[in-house]
Amino acid sequence: MTTRVALVTGGTGGIGTAICKRLFDSGHKVATNYRNADKAIAWQTRMKEGGCEVALAKGDVSSPEEAEAMVREVERQLGPVDILVNNAGITRDGTFHKMTAQQWQEVINTNLNSVFNVTRPVIEGMRGRKWGRIVQISSINGQKGQYGQANYAAAKAGMHGFTISLAQENARFGVTVNTVSPGYIGTEMVMAVPEAVREKIVAQIPTGRLGTPEEIAYAVSFFLPEEAGWITGANLSANGGQYMGW
Ligand code: NDP
Repeated sequence: MTTRVALVTGGTGGIGTAICKRLFDSGHKVATNYRNADKAIAWQTRMKEGGCEVALAKGDVSSPEEAEAMVREVERQLGPVDILVNNAGITRDGTFHKMTAQQWQEVINTNLNSVFNVTRPVIEGMRGRKWGRIVQISSINGQKGQYGQANYAAAKAGMHGFTISLAQENARFGVTVNTVSPGYIGTEMVMAVPEAVREKIVAQIPTGRLGTPEEIAYAVSFFLPEEAGWITGANLSANGGQYMGW
């Protein structure tokens, strides 16, 4: 297997940590971004103790300038980025008639504009080297909508439009672009939901349980090897059967 340089945004989070581990265990050189140095260094130390080395580069993905600087720092430490996983994301839930412009903008900036901000500085290099893998982490709620998440569902659905357009523009350059749409995963984001609400969510999942971050990391890894070179513009739903549409 060829060793590649992989940048996973939001790598310090629940799903991002599992993606970083999986990519490192597959033999890749892995980097992620951070905003808070103390928190990130503590995370990096824990990862190293667990046998996983991840390079850190400072950058808020909602800022075009910081995202570009972050990509350049990863290139400086590890070399040109071959694999990009656009994973960083947040929620700021609320029914739309009460939603503030700030709730809307924070979610669009972090989940969708970030995809422009981070992909733009890596795409020309991938095209020039005739190889690249870009994977967006979207959400089941971008496919089916979700009460109280007009901002989040709009951002996550937007990632699909981005994926299928970028896939068309870059297929001839050996760059594939795909999306993974997770259902409910047992990360802090979901475990923070009151238990009674979580029980109702689990009742809607045919597998009868929440997913694990490792199961999402597995879905991401599906798109990365040489054999996946003909798979582009795809959306892989990993949701325990909760939603079986596109
Ligand atoms: P976490 O909250 O555990 O992790 C989010 C990560 O994104 C953190 O590393 C966080 O860093 C980073 N991040 C957030 N905002 C920014 C920013 N502006 N700039 C840079 N980094 C940022 O979330 P999950 O692991 O649960 O989710 C990962 C992705 O999966 C998200 O896109 C989410 O929408 C999606 N998803 C999650 C599901 C779930 O059930 N958990 C279901 C479907 C999709 P920091 O520590 O600095 O905040």
